[in-house]
Amino acid sequence: MLGVYIHIPFCIRKCPYCDFYSLEYSDNLCDRYVDALCTAVKAHKKEKCDTIYFGGGTPNLLDIRHFEKILNTVFNAFDVDKNAEISLESNPALCSIEKLKAIRKLGFNRISIGVQSFCDNELKALGRLHNAQQAENAIYDAAMAGFDNISADFMMCLPNQTSDKLLNSLQRVFQLPIKHISAYMLKIEENTPFSRQSLILPDDDLSAQLYLEAVDFLENNGFAQYEISNFAKKGYECRHNLKYWKREEYIGFGPAAHSFYSGKRFAVKRDLSAFLADPRQYFITDESCDEFEETLMLNLRLSSGFDTNSVKDDRIDNVLKKARLLEKYGLLCINNGIITLTKQGFLVSNSIISNLLYN
Ligand code: SF4
Repeated sequence: MLGVYIHIPFCIRKCPYCDFYSLEYSDNLCDRYVDALCTAVKAHKKEKCDTIYFGGGTPNLLDIRHFEKILNTVFNAFDVDKNAEISLESNPALCSIEKLKAIRKLGFNRISIGVQSFCDNELKALGRLHNAQQAENAIYDAAMAGFDNISADFMMCLPNQTSDKLLNSLQRVFQLPIKHISAYMLKIEENTPFSRQSLILPDDDLSAQLYLEAVDFLENNGFAQYEISNFAKKGYECRHNLKYWKREEYIGFGPAAHSFYSGKRFAVKRDLSAFLADPRQYFITDESCDEFEETLMLNLRLSSGFDTNSVKDDRIDNVLKKARLLEKYGLLCINNGIITLTKQGFLVSNSIISNLLYN
């Protein structure tokens, strides 16, 4: 079954490290955008779907009437499974109990809250709108509103971050009703304000230490790692995101949204005006893809790994030969033809993948 991704490209203001496609929000623009989005969704042929994911941007700045309209349109346009996972990314600064209750009532059953850190100085350095207390309140309010499946996003390797600071932030999670954690390392993207500042960032050794300590800390506290940057209590892995890594089909609506559909990859142009002018022209880029390379690349992000028995390709013998060599360095394991990266391997996954495929 398909995954449906809905992109909401608006934020209250731009964070200095962010290069996602998002623009400053205005009421009027949101109304026009939701109309255009619904036109795009309606134009898709009816198919079964079992995950719906609202990402951004800051999706929870939409009004309840917007969510209602988009969800009704998706439910009419697709054959939505009765147990579908319906997720909403949320900024803690915009989470009120009333709104969370209304969102839950509409059918959202998973909420991903952008905590980023429980250290106020770090949140300030990231230019976030919320503080640690607001993030904690948002999580409690989400639980009170009836969300059982609550995820928290964290960032690691922040300016001046030490091991103690990171573990203190993560420690706070264990007292909260959280079932899933995403923890991404800060990457300085070109053309962002951060790329023009002289930040004191953890060096490679400290970054590796922070990552490995965080993984151990989360695993020792009941959050199993199922992907390089994702951890969950049993049964709470994100079903929508798993589709990306398992190379299953999904369709994305809105500027900058990506799709993998009928064996092809598509991306919508990062251009809100073009999308508003003609929302049905959403498949702009047709990227060619190599099934074997993609499956290996994506599956190796998962703790379940890449099963060489599951694909037929004459490159497999070569991949296994190189994998045996890397196994000696503790970067991966091979069991019954399944290659899985170790924690040390996850840290250098890009180099391993390129070594297995191209060197
Ligand atoms: S809230 Fe999220 S999407 Fe918006 S600017 Fe900040 S990091 Fe980017």
